[in-house]
Amino acid sequence: MAKTIKKGRRRIKKNIKIKHNPKKSQRLRFFLVKRREVISDFWNISEYNLRNMKYKNYIQRKISPFLLIVTIISIIAIIIFMSVKNTPLVNNKDILKPVIFDTIPSIFEEHQEKREATTANKDVEIEPNIPVSLNDYQAIKEQIISEFENRSPQEWGEKIKGVKTRIDTDQKIIALTFDACGGPRGSGYDKELIEYLKEYQIKATLFINARWIDANPEIFQELANDSLFEIEDHGTNHLPCSINGKSIYGVEGTKTVGEVIDEVEKNAIKIEKLTGRKPKYYRSGTAYYDEVCVEIVEELGYEVAGFSIIGDAGATFSSEQVKQATLEARPGSIIIYHMNQPTGETFEGLKKVIPELVKMNYIFVKLEDYKLY
Ligand SMILES: [Zn+2]
Repeated sequence: MAKTIKKGRRRIKKNIKIKHNPKKSQRLRFFLVKRREVISDFWNISEYNLRNMKYKNYIQRKISPFLLIVTIISIIAIIIFMSVKNTPLVNNKDILKPVIFDTIPSIFEEHQEKREATTANKDVEIEPNIPVSLNDYQAIKEQIISEFENRSPQEWGEKIKGVKTRIDTDQKIIALTFDACGGPRGSGYDKELIEYLKEYQIKATLFINARWIDANPEIFQELANDSLFEIEDHGTNHLPCSINGKSIYGVEGTKTVGEVIDEVEKNAIKIEKLTGRKPKYYRSGTAYYDEVCVEIVEELGYEVAGFSIIGDAGATFSSEQVKQATLEARPGSIIIYHMNQPTGETFEGLKKVIPELVKMNYIFVKLEDYKLY
């Protein structure tokens, strides 16, 4: 009973403290000051330090648990971030791939981002899927023949007037182009090369001949379905583009205007029927042209896509030559290689040089996304 009364009194005392009582609070202040002086003397420290100590004490009691939680959360976040960042771009089966890719995966990620950024804003025209009918074809052919049959060409070469050899840009972009020439010795498929381009999402333009399509129908469809690749016209019989049968490397070119039209247009129609997209560019077999032939191709609605760098010389270059030739690339370069000679060293060379170009911040683009000159 006595205890409970005492407790009650204490409670009442406490309550009184809270109420403002000038005399009492003065006494209390006096007591506190006195106490502080005693402590100060005891520790031989200034009042300022004492206040500081109180502050530190407060931090220890109130802030510390909060800091502890923040620290733990930060550590967990850092661990998660590091484990995500260290996830390799390439998986275990790629240990045999060039070491450079394993050491600079971030460069490739960056390359991919930049590549997406450079092409995101391009207005890509969607071509209507209207293959030319036979009647239209004959009519167009006769009209073009009458227009060009009396011309006599003066030029003959790979880089004559009208042949576009560069991308109109000052950005660090280059176009890798691969010909698939077809024919008895030209219908192979460099699967390793194409798989490599796919793996590292490197865009490319493929100039495909009708004979190669006939020899590899399924692969052709697979390539056409992949947005990484642009399919363009590399002729029907892989002939040099001439209106009077001029030859190069022992290959006789088309002999008349009508033959030029068939060589260009028949494969273009084939590609359009198979892919739903009309080719934008034509590159003749051997990449040789006379200037009248170039004009005929333009009349048919295509641009002649040449090149600024020979990348593999018909897949005859050694891997080192492929590398050195490719390193000549400048902003806007168009480089010509072959994807139909798997026994050549084109892929070996590209495997060495592509990482170098990536490190130099080059981005690989398709011709259709840019203006050529
Ligand atoms: Zn070819």
